[in-house]
This record gives sequence, C-alpha cells and structure tokens, in this order.
Amino acid sequence: ELQVAREFVSQVYAQVKERNPHESEFHQAVKEIFLSLVPVFAKHPEYMKSGILERLVEPERMITFRVSWVDDLGNVQVNRGFRVQFNSAIGPFKGGLRFHPTVNSSIIKFLGFEQIFKNSLTGQPIGGGKGGSDFDPKGKSDAEIMRFCQCFMSELSRYIGPDTDVPAGDIGVGAREIGYLFGQYKKMQGSYHAGVLTGKGISYGGSLARTEATGYGTVYFVEEMLKDKGLQFHGSTVVISGSGNVSIYAIEKATQLGAKVVACSDSNGYIYDENGLNLDTVRRLKEVERKRLSEYVDAHPEAVYHEGSYGIWSVPCDIALPCATQNEIDEEAAKLLVKNNVKAVGEGANMPSTLEAIDVFLNNGILFGPAKAANAGGVAVSALEMAQNSARMPWTFEEVDAKLHEIMKNIYKNSIEAAEAYGAPGNLVVGANIAGFLKVADAMLTQGIL
Ligand code: GLU
Repeated sequence: ELQVAREFVSQVYAQVKERNPHESEFHQAVKEIFLSLVPVFAKHPEYMKSGILERLVEPERMITFRVSWVDDLGNVQVNRGFRVQFNSAIGPFKGGLRFHPTVNSSIIKFLGFEQIFKNSLTGQPIGGGKGGSDFDPKGKSDAEIMRFCQCFMSELSRYIGPDTDVPAGDIGVGAREIGYLFGQYKKMQGSYHAGVLTGKGISYGGSLARTEATGYGTVYFVEEMLKDKGLQFHGSTVVISGSGNVSIYAIEKATQLGAKVVACSDSNGYIYDENGLNLDTVRRLKEVERKRLSEYVDAHPEAVYHEGSYGIWSVPCDIALPCATQNEIDEEAAKLLVKNNVKAVGEGANMPSTLEAIDVFLNNGILFGPAKAANAGGVAVSALEMAQNSARMPWTFEEVDAKLHEIMKNIYKNSIEAAEAYGAPGNLVVGANIAGFLKVADAMLTQGIL
C-alpha cells in the first residue's frame, strides 16, 4: 500500500508543479506535506479517489489587487496586494498579512497553505489564508505607512469580514499597521466589527498576550520536546534568529525559564553576547527606534556585531530557534549546528528550514519542532481574540497565557501521537502534518465536493 500511496502522491505533486510554475516556495511547502501524508493514504486508500489532495492544493480564491498611493515627495507609488483564501473547511479564512519586498504569489501561497494545517492543529475553528504586499515599510515615514495601509484596506475590505476572512499581522505588519488597517475598515463599513482583524491594540478590542503569543508559544512547544528527553531551557545556551515580534518574545520567555540567549539577528547581521543578550536594548532599537541591530554594540561594548545574518548559525548552542524568515537554515547551516552539538531546533518563523536542512536534523537525532506546530501560538491566540470579540468580554493576561500554554501542550501531544500511529515515532514533522490534515480532510469530505 505504501508504494501505491507514494506513487499517487508524487503524481499529484507533479501536477502541482506543472500548474503553478516558478513558485518554488509553494512547491516546497506542498512537498513537505505530501511526503508526510503517504502513510495516511496507505492506510485510507479511499482518500485517493476523493480528490482531497487535488482540492487542498488549489486555493478557494486568490485575489490580487493594485495599491496606488502617494509618497511624502508627492510621487505616485504602485504596489501589488494579495490575499489567498486557501481553505475554509473548518472556519473562516485566517492568517496574517506580510509587507515585504520579497512578497509574491509563491510566498503568499506557501504561507497560506501552511496556515491551513497550522490553524487546524490549534484546535480552534479557523481556516487557512494569508495576504500581503511587496510594499517595503523600511525607511517609510509614519504618514506613508498610514496612507499605504488605508489604500491597501480600501481594496481588501470587500473580501474580508469577521465570519469570512480575518487577517492579522506577519512580517512588516505590527500593532501600528493593524491600527491603520482597522481604522480604514471601520470607516468604510460605517460600523464596528471588532472581529475583522486580530492583533489589535488593547484599547480597541485586542487580546492581552497576543503580542507575546508566537514567541512564548514556540518556547512552550520546545519545552515539551525537551521535557520528553529529560532536558530543559534552564542552563541552556540558546540562539534565536530575527529581532522582530516572534524573536523578541521567544528571547523573553527563554530567558525567564533560565536559558542564556547569546545571539539574535536582523536582515543585515547578528549580535553575539556570550553573557546573554540585553533584551531591553534589542526592544528599544527594533520596536521603538526602528533602527539596525548593529547599534546594539554602542550600548554593550562587550558584545560583537557580525555583518550577514546567516553567520548566526555558526554560534554554538544547545537550542536554536529560527524566528526570522523562510529558508534561513539550509543544509550547510544545519550541518554546522549539528557539528556544534545543537540538541533541539524549534521553528518560530514560517518554513525557516529547507527540506534538506530538516533531513539533516532528523537524520542526526536532533529534536525538531516544525513551524506549523511550534509557531502556532500566534494564530491560536488570534482565535482567542476572535472569541473575546464575539463575547464582547476581554480576558486577563493570565487567562490567555494559560490557554496558550495548554494549546501548545496539546499540539505537541497530538503531533507525537499522530507520528506514532502512522509509523514515524518521534517525527514531529510527520506528526504535525498528519494531525493537521486529518481534521481538515474530515471536514471537507463531510461537507461534499466543493
Ligand atoms: N502571521 C502569523 C502566523 O503565521 C499569525 C496569523 C494570525 O494571527 O492570523 O501564524
């Protein structure tokens, strides 16, 4: 049966590549899921005739739109906006918006595809979606950011809604951007729909602990992985790439748990401080002043700054948490981490390890927490934000944090159990993909051919 399933899956994969040319990131995300699902199709051959795989890889809807806006010098700028409404089998489309010059349909589709399974894993009733723009927020004034967000929302607003599609932040979209986007949506609708976006400010319907959720969640997830092997954050040396929202709160939680975080990075380079990073300085530079990480050494001369963010993977550590962006760890970086005796890797970013890098980790017995599972805390708390909005009743920080912790533990447990049940004990990539898939597949099959 395995052979038949393998052939079936590779045939559908070949179709995906043919129908979606030049979308390497999307192909990569699909390939990872498909390889994991072989044992599912071997066990349930009836799935092969249901068209489930062919339907899963085709977005329900893919929207692209023009965003034209006027910069501070009076010049007209044109960007491209995207929203992929990938799968609504288990709930309204849900997923972030990314503003970054690398954004294109491949990036949006890989992110949206991953989101289907991630959102399913959270146990919350949310489908998969993603969006964004090739707009580069770097170096833009606050007024330019506001005008761009307003133009972007003018178009996006017709496709979203609290029960239809609920965007949030991702790279380049934080509290400031969500505020402008929400304001514009409210103005256009003429009524207050708190649940149309998540990641909102606390003063207008946001959830406590949403900001912290992705980073905290990644650490909670890795804590479970470590516990199973008698290891812990306490006393460990940790490297966390990135210095955005995910990275900052992963650093905070790991440090709270007694780890020493010695390195983090931005797109230009990384800082290394053998005594542990000063998080207040990182936050001031990145969150308040929006400056480069290289300036960290001005405040902490004992730290070292290195040009080039990729070099961070040469820093010896017990635990590595890639929290920057896709494909930041390739085969070579993975080998270097293994050589330097890394014990666990937990993905805070989306798809930060290439398929080859994942193989290196798994083949060397490194504990590996894949993104869909390890970074699901952000979107999980987004779903809790939607619940609070519907109930018109905010929860305390402690309540939300406790629920997040519980959700991360459950994701770990369900992934471990699925891996075991489908013949890949300990393999969280296979486990997370299968556990995420089964719920969506069941909902799709039950609802008929759509
Ligand atoms: N962008 C985040 C993610 O990749 C959060 C999405 C959300 O909260 O909807 O999961």
